[in-house]
Amino acid sequence: MSAFQQLGIEAQLLQAISELEYSTPTEIQEKAIPVLLDQEHDLIALAQTGTGKTAAFGLPILQNIQLDKPFTQALIIAPTRELCLQITSDLNKFARHLRGVRILAVYGGSSISAQIKELRQNVHIVVATPGRLMDLMDRQSVKINQVKIVILDEADEMLNMGFREDMESILAHTPAEKKTALFSATMSPEIREIAGRFLHHPKELVAGKKNLMQPNITHQYAVVQAKDKVIALKRIVDFHADFYGIVFCNTKIETQQISDILLKDGYAADCLHGDLEQRQRDKVMSKFRHKSVKVLFATDVAARGIDVKNLTHIIHFHLPDDIENYTHRSGRTARAGQKGFSIVLLHIKEAYKLHRIERMANLKFERYSIPKAEEVYQARIVNFIEQITNDVDETKLTPVKNEWVWPLMQMDKEKLVEIILRSEMKKFNTNYLSMPDINVEEKLSSGNSHYDRSGESRGRGGSRRRTESSSPSKKSNNVRLHINLGRKDNLKYDEIREEIFKLTKVSGRVIRDIDMKNTYSYFMTDPESSSKLLHCKNLKYKGREIQIKKPD
Ligand code: AMP
Repeated sequence: MSAFQQLGIEAQLLQAISELEYSTPTEIQEKAIPVLLDQEHDLIALAQTGTGKTAAFGLPILQNIQLDKPFTQALIIAPTRELCLQITSDLNKFARHLRGVRILAVYGGSSISAQIKELRQNVHIVVATPGRLMDLMDRQSVKINQVKIVILDEADEMLNMGFREDMESILAHTPAEKKTALFSATMSPEIREIAGRFLHHPKELVAGKKNLMQPNITHQYAVVQAKDKVIALKRIVDFHADFYGIVFCNTKIETQQISDILLKDGYAADCLHGDLEQRQRDKVMSKFRHKSVKVLFATDVAARGIDVKNLTHIIHFHLPDDIENYTHRSGRTARAGQKGFSIVLLHIKEAYKLHRIERMANLKFERYSIPKAEEVYQARIVNFIEQITNDVDETKLTPVKNEWVWPLMQMDKEKLVEIILRSEMKKFNTNYLSMPDINVEEKLSSGNSHYDRSGESRGRGGSRRRTESSSPSKKSNNVRLHINLGRKDNLKYDEIREEIFKLTKVSGRVIRDIDMKNTYSYFMTDPESSSKLLHCKNLKYKGREIQIKKPD
């Protein structure tokens, strides 16, 4: 009897997962499957991406679906469209030997009428983002009043994204006697509160902090000046000939700008962020999957749910503030048992954050030296030669006529080699080799410490010098705020600015980088305006209370 069989999984599903080469259940699967198969308990599961949680809830759901009953019996709510699509694709793989099960992903940014049409065809399992599901409920196009099970996947992320009200409203529209399971990477008081209100005597389980693939990830950091980060990135990509990875940036503007720079310099780069239309995102993802894009720039939110295997590298253009984002990001490399590298590009001011991540995630970062120009150059030439020598597959050679290659045949062999190499070397401009080393190791370190854990750094002479900027308390010039006005309010970017001004008398000129979502938006401002905005009370827009707050 296989281990999955012992957990109660039935034949058709067993066959599918054995074809997917899942031989042993992961910790979360072992713990959650029996709870979800038996109809009695609700469930709170602390589990991160990469732990196998999709199968942990997906297999019991599929097993309990009554295929002859043509209505929605299971509802899975997830924060992003990418995650919805990923879950749906995984469920379809698990269900490949179940006849007639219908699973539909519904999410924003894609035609609602097409989704409504699909929903008319009796869908057994709906996988939805909260905003789009609310829209569909308002239009009475989705019926969730007979669901037997509701899964809240990445519940903490949904709260972070401001979906709290939507989640509550959705749950309130489901039948009282259903089963509810909440999956979250963290257990915040807010999650506890939601669980307390909507879950009945839930079983709680924790599936280790570790990601399924984590042992294969090498965590590294490089210290460079902020202005050298793009050069550092290029050198990493140039040096590792097989580079295939995601570069995480903090803002969509940054993903676009750096991706444009790399593209202009001839790299196979592209970017994925929330402003892209559905079609554009699919196109980028398809190129990335097929490796015609090898360097994908993404924000954390846009990258959720991307399940591309065999990534060699994850690059953090900045360190994220929280550990969950770091684990989510780095968990995308080293999938399918491969080795992977997670490299943080750190500038001196960010050094203190690294220690925080190390402590919280219980991992150790190794120092990574950005390859020097001559090392990159050498690696490229060696790689070029390796490629030529490995690629000699006679069957694939296009026949050439003797008279064409005759002039080459006449040449001295060494001369010919030099000419071939020269063509590769030309890709580097003439002053490439004189480019300086951009590692700033010496400026930061004294003795063995490459970065200072107390937020102080040492000068060259060994004297301790407080670097104001590396202290966590140092104020940044940008503050990110959250406002509960968004696309649903039919506001354009300038109109949001105008509304903020009308409500608070804070000038629209200081409201920057508005990141508009369905029911809320983020924006950046300066510290002074931020404190004014945060002090504004009793704001009303069309009779609704408007809150400006720091993001949760
Ligand atoms: P998830 O956390 O659901 O996103 O799963 C992470 C990765 O682990 C996916 O690529 C799954 O296909 C894979 N996976 C899930 N369960 C197992 C298992 N029991 N054995 C091997 N791989 C698995």
